[in-house]
Parts: sequence; C-alpha cells; structure tokens
Amino acid sequence: MSDIIHLLPDSVANQIAAGEVVQRPASAVKELIENALDAGSTNIKLIVKDAGKTLIQVIDNGCGMSETDARMSFERHATSKIKKVDDLFAIRTMGFRGEALASIAAIAHVELKTKRTGDEIGVKIEIEGSEVKNQEACNSPEGTSISIKNLFYNVPARRNFLKNDAVELRHILDEFQRVAIPNPETAFSLHHNTTEIFHLEAGSLKQRLMAIFGSSYNTRLIPVEENTGIVKIKGFVIKPEFAKKTRGEQFFFLNKRFIKSAYLHHAVQSAFEEVLPKDSFASYFLLLDVDPKTIDINIHPTKTEVKFEDEKAIYAFLRSAIKKSLGQFNIAPSIDFDQEAHLYNMPLKPVDGIFKLPTIKVDPNFNPFKTDTPTGNKPSERELSNRNNWEKMYSRHTDNQLEFEVKQENTQQTIDTDWDNELHESNKKSTYQLHNKYILSHIKTGFMVIDQQGAHERILYERVLETFEKHKSATQQELFPKTIELNVTDFALVQELQPEIQSMGFDIREFGKNTFVIHGVPADTVNYDSAALLEGLIENYKQNFQELKSNKRENLARSMARNMSIKSGKALTQEEMNNLIDELFACKMPYSTPNGKPTISTISIDELDKRFRK
Ligand code: ADP
Ligand code: MG
Repeated sequence: MSDIIHLLPDSVANQIAAGEVVQRPASAVKELIENALDAGSTNIKLIVKDAGKTLIQVIDNGCGMSETDARMSFERHATSKIKKVDDLFAIRTMGFRGEALASIAAIAHVELKTKRTGDEIGVKIEIEGSEVKNQEACNSPEGTSISIKNLFYNVPARRNFLKNDAVELRHILDEFQRVAIPNPETAFSLHHNTTEIFHLEAGSLKQRLMAIFGSSYNTRLIPVEENTGIVKIKGFVIKPEFAKKTRGEQFFFLNKRFIKSAYLHHAVQSAFEEVLPKDSFASYFLLLDVDPKTIDINIHPTKTEVKFEDEKAIYAFLRSAIKKSLGQFNIAPSIDFDQEAHLYNMPLKPVDGIFKLPTIKVDPNFNPFKTDTPTGNKPSERELSNRNNWEKMYSRHTDNQLEFEVKQENTQQTIDTDWDNELHESNKKSTYQLHNKYILSHIKTGFMVIDQQGAHERILYERVLETFEKHKSATQQELFPKTIELNVTDFALVQELQPEIQSMGFDIREFGKNTFVIHGVPADTVNYDSAALLEGLIENYKQNFQELKSNKRENLARSMARNMSIKSGKALTQEEMNNLIDELFACKMPYSTPNGKPTISTISIDELDKRFRK
C-alpha cells in the first residue's frame, strides 16, 4: 500500500489558520491598524464599506515596504519584528507572529500599495486566496495602503455566519477604539460607507477620550498616575457620580494593547468601593506599562487575557493609585448618596408634584382608573379581562370555593375567594402600602402582598410586547424635541434598534453625527424627560445583552419595563394602588416579573393563626 500522508498546500494551510486569526471583519481591521502602528505611522485612515464585508482599507504614512518585503509580508511566519527567541521577551510591537497578512490573503481579495520613505517608486501587489495575481511598480505616497475586498469570498460558511451590518460595524468600532485610545499621538479617522464616523486628531489621552466619548468627558475624568519599579500606571477614571449600571467603559491597556482582566477590574472596583452607588460599575481608561519580560506575551492574537508575573503587586499599586486620585480630587466627601441615588433609579418625574401612573393610549376608550364602563361605550378587551381577573380573585363563586393558583417561588398556593362586589370595592379602598414598597390587600383566605416595582414591571412589559405584536403604539409628540448625543457605540446600537424603538412609540430621527432628535415618546410616558428615558432604555438594554443576545424585542420590553417602572420607595395613593392591582390582574402572567421573580405573595389566616398559636 502506498503512503498516505502528505503536506497540505500552503493555500489550504493558510485558509485553515486564517480561521483563528480572522473571525470577522473587525479582526482584519485590528490586524491592519496594528501593522500600521508598528510601521510608525502618525496618521492612519480606516475606510470600511458595508461593515467590512465589501471593503476594509487601511492607509498609513508609516515606513512602507521594499518590493521584496511587500511580497514576503504575505508569507506565513514572515515578520520583521522578531528574529530570535530572546526577542520574544522584549516585544514592544503589536504584532510579531507574522501570521496576519498571510491569513487575510488566504480568504479575501487583497491589494497592497506601498512605498518606503525616500524611495522613488512604490509597488502594487494583488492577491486572491493566497495566489499572487499581479505585481507591478506604481506611484504611491509614502506609506502603505492595503485593501481587503470580499472577505471570506471562498469560505461561504464563515461569510454566512456574519451578523448584520449594524452588529459587525459595532465590532469594528470596538476594535478601532481599543487601538485609538492608547495611541493618542497618532491621528486616526474612520469612514463607513459615506459617513466619517471618527476624526481623531493627534493629541493628549484626555483629548482622545473626549473626541471619542464626547466633550462632556472633560469634567468627568479624574487623572490617575503612578510610577513604581514594577508598573507605570497612567490614565483616567470617571467620577463616581457618572458611574453606569452597565459595564460600559472599562478599558485596560497593557503596553498599549487592550486587555481584559477580571482581577485588575476588581482592584479598581474595590478602590471605588466607598464612593460608588450600589450596583454601579466604575468606568476607567487605564494604561499600564510593564517590562515585557514580566508578562506572558505568548498569548493568542485574538485573545485579550494576559498573565503577569507580579499580579498581586500590580493589583495593590493600581488600587492605591486610584484611591489616591479619588482622594486628591476630593470625591469621597462630596458624595451624597441620597442625593445621587435618584440618578441611578430613573424615577418617574411627577408633574405638579403629583405622581401619576402612566396610562396607555393604545385604546382611546380605555381608562385604567375606571373599572366600570360608561353606558353606551363598549368595554375594551383589556377592561374585560381585567375585570374578569379581579372577579376571579374576589367575587363569590357559585360554590364559594373558586380555586385560584398563585405561583410563588415554585410552590403553588390556592386562594379560595369569597367576596361580593360591595366588599371588593370597600377592600380595594383599604389597600395599604408598606414601607413604600409593598401593597397589602385583603383576600378571603388572608391577605396578599404585592411587590409594587415588580408588578409594574410586569404590566409595562406586557404592554410593550403587545405594541410589538399589534404594530399599534401611540406616540406623544414632544412640544420641544430634545437632541441626544450618544457615544459612537451607543449611536450604532440605537441605529440597529431603531425599527423596534420606533414601534414602541418613540419618534426618533437621526440628526447628524452621533445625534438623535426625540420628537415623540410612547404615549404612556408623557411625564418623563425624553432623553433620560431613551438613555435609560439603552443602558438597560446593554445590561440585559449578555443574557438576551439574540432576542431584541424581549430585551427591549424588559429594558423599557425596568426603566419606567415605579420604583420601590415611591409612595402611592389608594387610587394608584388599586389601579396597579387592576392592571396586574389584567396581565397574562400576573404572578412573576419579566425576570421570573414573584410579584405576589399570599399569607393565609391559617398561617397567622399558627403564629399566634391559636
Ligand atoms: P506581524 O505584524 O506579526 O509581523 P503581519 O502578517 O501582520 O505580521 O505582517 C507581516 C510583516 O509585514 C510585518 O512584520 C511588517 O514588516 C510588514 N508590514 C505589514 N503591514 C505593514 C505596514 N502597514 N507598513 C509597513 N510594513 C508592514
Ligand atoms: Mg501584524
């Protein structure tokens, strides 16, 4: 029998390896920009079409390549950055594996144009699927321009796996920011289709952060700086009062490379411990610089985890550096938690000091404050089911023993109800609010306790889902439309979600760079600050994102419900409490919040009797 083992042709080997380096357009963007930085560029332009699926082009003014180097750069393990094993322990460049260009060229149409500083003439090389199609001398400015067209054209499985443009663009924006932030001395720009998304001048780190996240960061940033023998720390943290409930802006860079580190994150979070409101995360942009010898640099190109030799010491230095900054900038004493807490709760803003439950405007005849129907008007569907549920709970059943299931932390309880309408009315009046948090109400067998926030979340959640289903939502037009400026990633997110947000009843329109104008909000939210409402929605959406990745509507409905719900701590009037109970029992699933927590708990007279040993 003949031998069967043979070496794979380079093109096949490259294509297999490419899968590790290039997973999506954003990975190619990262590799190309890093190469441009390694080439000493002071100006780097990124041009992207259709979220990188059609074109990714990076133009730099770096050192350029000779004709031979240009050709060599596409070979696997071809690099100018290391020569011997020892070099591995002194790496200061972003790349060193010599894999990126070979990988990219295996799965795309690539055109490279490059000219070294001082050379008369440049070179152009065209490659398709690892095969050189053309090489010629050309006129070219100093530096390198590399275009990647039709990424994954020969790997249909990968291409089909790509997400829609909005998602892929967001990945690109993430990678772009991760390189642009730690390199503020280099100018960057990013064009997507016909729009210039970023135009970042060379400047300081603070200027760079403001250019990316908005000029409001000017007053939000607190500098951090510390030089120890082991680590140099430089960067900014965000003042605690601007902390977010999502893990939004958390950037560590190690020797200018973006890294993730739960361990170091903990150090920062613990430095903020005393000054950060509960459930909030510190935001930070921190550049750490260590001797490359003391880290394990042999990490996978697409991974962001790192191993340090002096992990514990770095933790301690980082924590104390931040504590020092917070102290110097007098953060600790100036925080008033009661004052600040409201910022994070997104409370209802009462008009005229009177708290009103939002009312839905979907059905013009529907009045949630009324349980009886005006003569001549047909009761709405919601009203009917609402009354029906109430009646089930309270009215006298023929055999006086209507069984009513209440799911409560996986145990099932039966409430037998015995109530006539008169009693029902009088008892509704005697609902009682406990600690501005729970509503107590009689039932025949005892009483029930309703979590006001959870109950309201359930109500709002079902309303939003209903508007999605029925494509029927009412909008309250704003008298004075508000503009809202977002950071680039949030802007891209809102663009992606715009159809859904629109169908919830928002009327938002793009207005130039990173800005939306809010012309209207859902009709049942007239008492809100519209910008705060939209911002809160985005924040909640991001918070839910890990869990509900693929389900936009579910996420939006939960986010909106969480965002708008009456919070614990809110005093309610009798009418509001009754109304809340009415609406809760009109829900399809009144017994749990959208996140599956119970909304209602019951306590029976029997239970009470036992307590009093009767
Ligand atoms: P690595 O960056 O790991 O060395 P790459 O495949 O990314 O590997 O690049 C191979 C080589 O091509 C680099 O080492 C560098 O010499 C050269 N090169 C790539 N991009 C550029 C560029 N924009 N300007 C100058 N040289 C470049
Ligand atoms: Mg590289």
